[in-house]
Amino acid sequence: SKAPIMSIEESKEDSKEIKVKFSIVFVTAEAEPYSKTGGLGDVCGSLPVALAARGHRVMVVLPRYLNGQSEKVYSNAVDLGKRAKVSCFGADHEVAFFHEFRENVDWVFVDHPAYRRPGNPYGDNYGAYGDNQFRFSLLSHAACEAPLVLELGGFNYGEKCIFVANDWHAGLVPVLLGAKYRPWGVYKDARSILVIHNIAHQGVEPATTYPNLGLPPDWYGALEWVFPNWARKHALDKGEAVNILKGAIVTADRIVTVSEGYSWEITTPEGGYGLDGLLTSRKSVINGIVNGIDVTDWDPATDQHIPFHYSIDDLSGKALCKADLQRELGLPMRPVTPLIGFIGRLDYQKGTDLVLSALPEIMQMDIQLVMLGSGNVAYEEWMRSAEYTYRDKFRGWVGFNVPISHRITAGCDIIIMPSRFEPCGLNQLYAMRYGTVPVVHCTGGLRDTVETFNPFGDEGRGTGTGWAFSPLTKERLLWALGLAVSTYRDYRSSWEGLMKQGMSKDFTWDTAASNYEQIFEWASIDPPYVQ
Ligand code: ADP
Repeated sequence: SKAPIMSIEESKEDSKEIKVKFSIVFVTAEAEPYSKTGGLGDVCGSLPVALAARGHRVMVVLPRYLNGQSEKVYSNAVDLGKRAKVSCFGADHEVAFFHEFRENVDWVFVDHPAYRRPGNPYGDNYGAYGDNQFRFSLLSHAACEAPLVLELGGFNYGEKCIFVANDWHAGLVPVLLGAKYRPWGVYKDARSILVIHNIAHQGVEPATTYPNLGLPPDWYGALEWVFPNWARKHALDKGEAVNILKGAIVTADRIVTVSEGYSWEITTPEGGYGLDGLLTSRKSVINGIVNGIDVTDWDPATDQHIPFHYSIDDLSGKALCKADLQRELGLPMRPVTPLIGFIGRLDYQKGTDLVLSALPEIMQMDIQLVMLGSGNVAYEEWMRSAEYTYRDKFRGWVGFNVPISHRITAGCDIIIMPSRFEPCGLNQLYAMRYGTVPVVHCTGGLRDTVETFNPFGDEGRGTGTGWAFSPLTKERLLWALGLAVSTYRDYRSSWEGLMKQGMSKDFTWDTAASNYEQIFEWASIDPPYVQ
């Protein structure tokens, strides 16, 4: 049989579905609905479910974060009674595993005191936790044990599985397979996929921390990294570091990025954050797969967070959502004034500074603008003060608030995303599904998913779903926003066409899941990484 070695079951010959069913182990720092700070949480909450629905056996391993408010989300997860000892950071650390079987996925939560603290998964008001290298090394070690030691639904996942390691937090997984297990004959038939959601975070610490990671000394080279000169702090600093994401890029059997565009960008000096050379050398195993969205959570016809419902066949509820949002925000309730939204982390990546610098000009237009986000304290302060300066036009909502993000997505006419780089971006996908027209910087996943409006396309009926501008300057942002606003005002039938084209796009996870299957097949046909 030509079936790849990972085959645990073959479906019927006549099935059009992929024949091989895989045992898949996701390792991630966050997954909705348990924990989420950004797109990683959305993806790891949905993609495993989509893969399970296609017949694969899927486990997701993530920390059990307890912070005083999160306890209730784990109320269905029971202690499996298994303990694993992880040797790293100079001691044996005992972890427990909690488990919930939901939507045909085994959700496995690694329990350890390091995951019990107020704050979010990565840090608190004072910044990132100082021991994140430990916290996520522990996660990776524990996740490698899970398929071997946990009996789920009567039997364990065993050694023939596909690990999907997400971002640097899970980056030790492919390294451990090669360094800690395969030399002893364990996980010979396992494969690892590294998914890069954001290359700007790599898990870099001084080289002196290497002995803590629980890896053999002769694997140092896989993680070794030298800071470029400009990043060194003083003359004596030789820039020697360990870089966990780099280790994963070297050792993973295949690499996936969350859009096609981003898979190319990370091989360039501008987008590679120091890893472009290495990624270029691994180009033959890199693919891009655009994220899907959870079309049950994000459905304007049923969304629990929005006050009125609508669909592509009857858009009237959207105008009501807009009026209600204006009321909720205390903005003048003017149906014909374009309401523009921004949702996202307030930081350099998301281009918050560009909105800031363009604000005086934006405020001269006859529009309303609402921003939702948290992050950089200076930007938060600026949003608060802009509310006073532009009382009847601007609202800045500081915080991370999922219901509000749904109401902004539904109630706005336009959403802006001037991201400096964007591996995939989800808000433009949510926006299109809600008939809200995206105006975005033409980069990464934004470039892949937003097609610029062309009034002459399709024999004059118009094509496109929004505006993608480039380069990333204040002038170009204002230009694109100006086009959007005048189209909204003066060309109503074009605008409705734009809304409907966005709403009819297929962003379901099933499409992405079938592409991931293809990657798993390719990975399982090739031999695994050996040093
Ligand atoms: P990133 O992961 O870089 O932050 P993405 O666009 O991939 O960006 O995903 C961000 C996710 O987090 C989206 O689901 C978005 O709706 C959500 N989000 C971002 N900021 C907020 C906020 N302030 N309140 C609620 N949800 C937010």
